[in-house]
Amino acid sequence: MTLEDRTCVVTGASRGIGRGIAKEFGRHGASVAVNYRSSEAAAHEVVDAIEETGGEAIAVQADVADNDAVAGMAEAVRSAFGPADVLVNNAGLTVDRTFKNMTPEDWQRVVDVNLGGMYNCTHQFFEDIVDADCGRLINISSVVGQQGNYGQANYATTKSGMFGFTRTIALELARTGSTANCVAPGFVRTDMLDEVSDHVQEQILERIPLERFAEVDDITGIVRFVASEDSGYMTGQILAVNGGMEW
Ligand code: NAP
Repeated sequence: MTLEDRTCVVTGASRGIGRGIAKEFGRHGASVAVNYRSSEAAAHEVVDAIEETGGEAIAVQADVADNDAVAGMAEAVRSAFGPADVLVNNAGLTVDRTFKNMTPEDWQRVVDVNLGGMYNCTHQFFEDIVDADCGRLINISSVVGQQGNYGQANYATTKSGMFGFTRTIALELARTGSTANCVAPGFVRTDMLDEVSDHVQEQILERIPLERFAEVDDITGIVRFVASEDSGYMTGQILAVNGGMEW
């Protein structure tokens, strides 16, 4: 059980990649905080699934863009399981428009959730990770942060921004024995990909050497490895999990 006795917080864990990470962590012995913003029933289903496999979990509501709400989440996690050992900043969204049509609101909402949420959660759990044995900060970025993508100036900017943040926090954590890394998935079959038209999905598929989109399970095992004590000599890295796409 690679994550036994570890308290793991996964943001945006009610659906998609975050749900897969939370369940993977639970299966490997972690106590898991399943964060969600609006999908309460789905978050509770994730908790039930973890408990059915013998793990322990709680659902915690917080919009990661709201620092006070994230502070409340941190208190709830500590009172249930104690300080966090692992934080996965996974919560994210897209508001796609060509730059010409992108309003200030479209820009700001994506920045507030994808970058502001990463700041808020890291800020609230930072001391826990500093003090933990083998603390882990894991930021879920994207191949889009590496390549850019038509219609995603706001999203690509936030996903690139995660790289600079991760490398810097990795340096600041280095003396503590804790690490910070990014996992940068390619295109993964979730609700987020479903929002992309069939025509654009076909164009993306042509650029993937492995000739298929990722399933959530293609990502979760790698995140579990990064969360484990086995990854201790790796920090400040970007793990590209994208079916062989270049960047
Ligand atoms: P998804 O299926 O749309 O799920 C998004 C999750 O994030 C949901 O659980 C949602 O919770 C949560 N969320 C959204 N805004 C939030 C907020 N303000 N506060 C708290 N939770 C919030 O997305 P996904 O495809 O799993 O993506 C997860 C992460 O992977 C994102 O950071 C995304 O950028 C990244 N990624 C995805 C892909 C892909 O192709 N799917 C590729 C590369 C990277 P509620 O439902 O409760 O609102």
